[in-house]
Amino acid sequence: MRKSIKSVAILGGGPSGCSLAILLNRKRIKVSVFYIPKRPEIIVGESLVPAIIPYLKMLGVEDEIKSFSTYKPGASVWLNQAEVFSSPFSKGGGTLPHYAYNVPRVDFDRAIFNLALKEGVKFFDIPAKIEKTGNGDELKLSDVTIEAIDNYFDGQPDLIVDATGRSRTIARLLDIPAVEGNRKDVALFSHLTHTEPIEPYNIHLHRLDKGWAWRIPLPGRTSVGIVINPRHLEPFGKTKEEQYENFLKQDNEFRKFTVGFQRNVPVNQYNNYQLISEKMFGQNWVLTGDAGGFLDPIFSSGTYLAIKGAFRLAETITVGTDVAFKKYQKEQKWELKIWQDLVDTWYNGRLFTLFKVGQDRMDTAFGRFIGPVMQKRLTRIFSGEAVYGAFSRWFLYFVTGSMIDLMKMGRLHNREKSELEIK
Ligand SMILES: Cc1cc2nc3c(=O)[nH]c(=O)nc-3n(C[C@H](O)[C@H](O)[C@H](O)COP(=O)(O)OP(=O)(O)OC[C@H]3O[C@@H](n4cnc5c(N)ncnc54)[C@H](O)[C@@H]3O)c2cc1C
Repeated sequence: MRKSIKSVAILGGGPSGCSLAILLNRKRIKVSVFYIPKRPEIIVGESLVPAIIPYLKMLGVEDEIKSFSTYKPGASVWLNQAEVFSSPFSKGGGTLPHYAYNVPRVDFDRAIFNLALKEGVKFFDIPAKIEKTGNGDELKLSDVTIEAIDNYFDGQPDLIVDATGRSRTIARLLDIPAVEGNRKDVALFSHLTHTEPIEPYNIHLHRLDKGWAWRIPLPGRTSVGIVINPRHLEPFGKTKEEQYENFLKQDNEFRKFTVGFQRNVPVNQYNNYQLISEKMFGQNWVLTGDAGGFLDPIFSSGTYLAIKGAFRLAETITVGTDVAFKKYQKEQKWELKIWQDLVDTWYNGRLFTLFKVGQDRMDTAFGRFIGPVMQKRLTRIFSGEAVYGAFSRWFLYFVTGSMIDLMKMGRLHNREKSELEIK
């Protein structure tokens, strides 16, 4: 049994750090957030899934987010120019709201930050320096940091939370091993104007000859990102700006959507994909959000998992026992793993094969029977509901696995599965 946790230092003021701070502060735990005030002009993480909405409501920030975002009623997947699977979230049924938002991410982070501030969370605009104490994996705030915050905790906090996202401050300090995914892609993204309008404001995901791309409709502009193996980008130029713009201009499938675009903000590049820390807590520290693990962004699960994880961690901290922390770690890893399995069906081509099989078979009795069931289940991938519930998971793995084989779409399966794999 740990001593009860009365004070918590959170490193990182993104969605996971600020959500956790709000929740702990509401439980009257002494909490402070160390954050870096300077943010990039644009940040990824703009497409939300309906599964996040109940958490935004519990935080009390949904109305604010709605005020600067576009209303997102569904998702569209483009296999190519002619084959599009488009579904409103309402077709997924289920218990979740049938909408989400596409958010300018800087405003989204600011909304949660401001709520925390309003509710009395203490913020320090410095990156906390942490050190090993030499006692097992115990950590402490450095003397310089304690001095900089005017000994706010009256000594050391009971718990240090790493919510620094991909910086993975604690995992790097302690050399915590991580399981990496198979993909080594990069993402290049920016905001464009003068592109093809998107109405209704679905997220659009495009399978490309090489890699894939997103189009996210934001107020007055469109976020366009490419996720691709970096070797495919080399012919397009030396700088990330050249590569991004030339790729958009030259890609056969995609250029129609962005022809004549204007870009008034920088191109941002993200490396490192799919990484899950093997250990998520220690003697007096714990990891949350991307700092604990992150996935490829294809299904827009990141901010949802980050905020949901903050809720889970707030409960864990309230209990404060080793058993509770072990449970937290187990549940976090399990959740990342089931989402990772889903992500794999996008890259190995099986999800696309399924769309094609579905379309080709729609005029048969079997197609008419299975069609609506598949639409419901596939829509739930994009609402964030598909991986929860044993039946949903089984169904998904069945339809993207055995069912395709069972239907013996010999020609389609053998010829196109490998073609549909993302290179
Ligand atoms: C290409 C790409 C596209 C994505 N698209 C989506 C999407 O459409 N939808 C979606 O939901 N998710 C998406 N994500 C994932 C999403 O961005 C993350 O999952 C989410 O931001 C995680 O939130 P977080 O609070 O854990 O970390 P972050 O949002 O990274 O926040 C961490 C914070 O910690 C700060 N920080 C770092 N180091 C320190 C330090 N030493 N001291 C103090 N502060 C520090 C950072 O400045 C940052 O503010 C995408 C990710 C990528 C890479």
